[in-house]
Amino acid sequence: MATPLPLVFSAPKRGMPPAHFADLSDEQRIEALSELGLPKFRLNQIARHYYGRLEADPMTMTDLPEDARAKVKEALFPTLMEPLRVVEADDENTQKTLWKLHDGTLLESVLMRYPDRATLCISSQAGCGMACPFCATGQGGLDRNLSIGEIVDQVRNAAATMHAEGGRLSNIVFMGMGEPLANYKRVVSAVRQITQPSPDGFGISQRSVTVSTVGLAPAIRKLADEDMSVTLAVSLHTPDDELRDELVPVNNRWSVAEVLDAARYYADKSGRRVSIEYALIRDINDQGWRADMLGEKLHKALGSRVHVNLIPLNPTPGSKWDASPRERQDEFVRRVIAQGVPCTVRDTKGQEIAAACGQLAAEEK
Ligand code: SF4
Repeated sequence: MATPLPLVFSAPKRGMPPAHFADLSDEQRIEALSELGLPKFRLNQIARHYYGRLEADPMTMTDLPEDARAKVKEALFPTLMEPLRVVEADDENTQKTLWKLHDGTLLESVLMRYPDRATLCISSQAGCGMACPFCATGQGGLDRNLSIGEIVDQVRNAAATMHAEGGRLSNIVFMGMGEPLANYKRVVSAVRQITQPSPDGFGISQRSVTVSTVGLAPAIRKLADEDMSVTLAVSLHTPDDELRDELVPVNNRWSVAEVLDAARYYADKSGRRVSIEYALIRDINDQGWRADMLGEKLHKALGSRVHVNLIPLNPTPGSKWDASPRERQDEFVRRVIAQGVPCTVRDTKGQEIAAACGQLAAEEK
């Protein structure tokens, strides 16, 4: 019997933006075009502009009849977001954009340029309802789910930026604001549009897309059944229920064992290695015995199909949570590896521009 989906999956309707091309199925797009008096073949032209050439303004789509462009813009390409602030760091290799949405809500995306790739970290919700106490976004609560268009257009914008520089956007991580699996249907639709080849999507490889979660076990299983080869990243942050109940309150609903069971199901179905995210917090979850327990539990649940990403905590202003000292971090890595589980420290690109999720939006508020 299917596990009933929890309440966190219900989508707040308030404040959703007007429908955008990316929100609609092909049937709905054809219907909208026909209401404008345009034939079906225009769909393919418009999709090539949006996904292939990364253009979102029909006024520049010169193969559309001149008198149709404004109508297409009004019906299918409303302005979804406008940049409010752009902050750069790491010699301009990291660029964080704070977007203002149509109803005034704020969201962030971060573009990180590396020598061999360009990764965009995107948001799936405005705010977040998961209430992790060490996280700036969690303190503000959930404003609302993002629409498919608002998720997809973060990618189009960054892909256009990279294209203009002669580069290519190669990787997407859903690790910005929000819990992606709490906005499940829209996130899955966005992943399909990100990964399908043009004219159905941007053609980024599924293997280069990472979907993170705090551990909504039924949704992890559901994602596994979508038969996609995206990487699953589980924000575990501690291997024991006692502390996890506090650090990641959703643990009160799905325990560490249930989350790891679901992660194993994902690894079995997708053939992909699961990534375990662990924000290392001084004197909270950085003890040697916790490293041993983490390695042991992961090895037992996932064998060699797991990798631990340690994230030195980026302290939020005024918070009591702090990053672990370097020696503690090194010792933690060593002890996890000793249990047969690969473990590395995540590059903290962008830390100087407040790259903890939600931090820029929290400052703005
Ligand atoms: S850490 Fe992630 S899941 Fe937890 S409150 Fe922050 S954004 Fe939400």
